[in-house]
Amino acid sequence: MARFGLEGLRPASVLARRFREEEARALLAGAAAHTMLPLTAPLTGAFGLLFLMIAHSVGWPVVEGGSARIVDALAGELTSLGGRVETGRLAQTLDSLPQARAVLLDVTPRQFVALAGDRLPAARRRALERFRYGPGVCKVDWALSGPVPWEAAACREAGTVHLGGTFAEVARSESEVAAGRHPERPFCLVAQPGVVDPSRAPDGKQTLWGYCHVPSGSAVDMTDRIEAQIERFAPGFRDLILARSVRTAAGMEQYNPNYIGGDIGGGAGTLRQTVFRPTPRWNPYRTALPGVYLCSSSTPPGGGCTGCAVPGPPGRPSPTSACGPAPDRTGAGSQRPTETAAPRPGQRLGDARDVASNGTLPQASPLCGNHRDAPHRTRPATHRPGRRKPGPGDGPADGG
Ligand SMILES: Cc1cc2nc3c(=O)[nH]c(=O)nc-3n(C[C@H](O)[C@H](O)[C@H](O)COP(=O)(O)OP(=O)(O)OC[C@H]3O[C@@H](n4cnc5c(N)ncnc54)[C@H](O)[C@@H]3O)c2cc1C
Repeated sequence: MARFGLEGLRPASVLARRFREEEARALLAGAAAHTMLPLTAPLTGAFGLLFLMIAHSVGWPVVEGGSARIVDALAGELTSLGGRVETGRLAQTLDSLPQARAVLLDVTPRQFVALAGDRLPAARRRALERFRYGPGVCKVDWALSGPVPWEAAACREAGTVHLGGTFAEVARSESEVAAGRHPERPFCLVAQPGVVDPSRAPDGKQTLWGYCHVPSGSAVDMTDRIEAQIERFAPGFRDLILARSVRTAAGMEQYNPNYIGGDIGGGAGTLRQTVFRPTPRWNPYRTALPGVYLCSSSTPPGGGCTGCAVPGPPGRPSPTSACGPAPDRTGAGSQRPTETAAPRPGQRLGDARDVASNGTLPQASPLCGNHRDAPHRTRPATHRPGRRKPGPGDGPADGG
């Protein structure tokens, strides 16, 4: 851990110098860019390594039928224990909540300050008001008449595709955003869960979503620039678009009040806010108000859900990853999770280990980084037979 900490403290830009090949540097850039920080910022190396380690060891799973099924399963668990879920009502003050022994708030500091009002001591309020938010995202969802015609065969197999070009291009895009500008060629994170989950679209069709980073609170619609990046690596993509839905960063906050200025990570992942989140306190979850706790991504370990699923216990199959050559000793890239029935409402899911290994979270293979004008090619995940028909021009993909 200490070794990882020392390595990870470095910015991705420094760590990238260790790699001779542009593909490896681009791979790191895409993973590190998840931090929404300039790649010269401390800790971007740690996040890049972490994302890639997860990709190699357990992959980046997607949920069969859509992520809402996780919420359904959790809600089912709660109701089976006698709980009640109420939706569609925004809590405006803490006083509007029912009396309870403990109140767990899945909100960021800014909302907590508003909810608590005068009940919060001035010093605590000031400390929370110093919490910094990161850039926003502009997100587009597409309905497509067919799979994305990625030039690189490996991209047609990947659940997540990072688009950006070389390390330098990705780094430029992220530093532009940090400087308050909208990049002309933005780093884009694109997800095509349908490559492993046919339930996401009617036969032959495909769904896709993608976002790029933008300055906080931006109302700029980046659709054209995102689509241009996809078209760059998948000529003919635009011809497949049946419908699209766009949310600018400002729109993201309207959609979910936790996405302050469009920041989907619950606050900037700076060194300070990674160690002390949201503020320096022995117990970061406890607030100044008795029985009131913060439990959102603005508290440790921070934003994100990647890696919440872990490999099954020894002897049980592990999900795979296509992010780079998978070493034989782990078996990554050669095994698939066992498929079992999807969770029923109210069915106990157990811990994340069970979720990942019992096959309710089918594997999506992340593809990270690109090389010059062609997306970086990595080894495709081994797919369950019959999951996806090979597309025209599919050829053997090389290892990353
Ligand atoms: C498009 C997209 C892609 C992402 N991809 C990844 C990824 O690949 N890997 C990764 O690790 N992370 C990813 N993330 C980030 C990850 O999803 C978030 O970090 C995580 O969901 C944050 O969890 P949370 O519990 O803090 O908040 P949320 O999941 O946002 O939950 C907070 C809930 O509280 C509700 N709420 C807020 N205020 C109130 C109120 N006053 N009254 C009532 N309800 C309220 C909100 O509406 C929301 O439903 C992604 C996010 C997005 C949007």
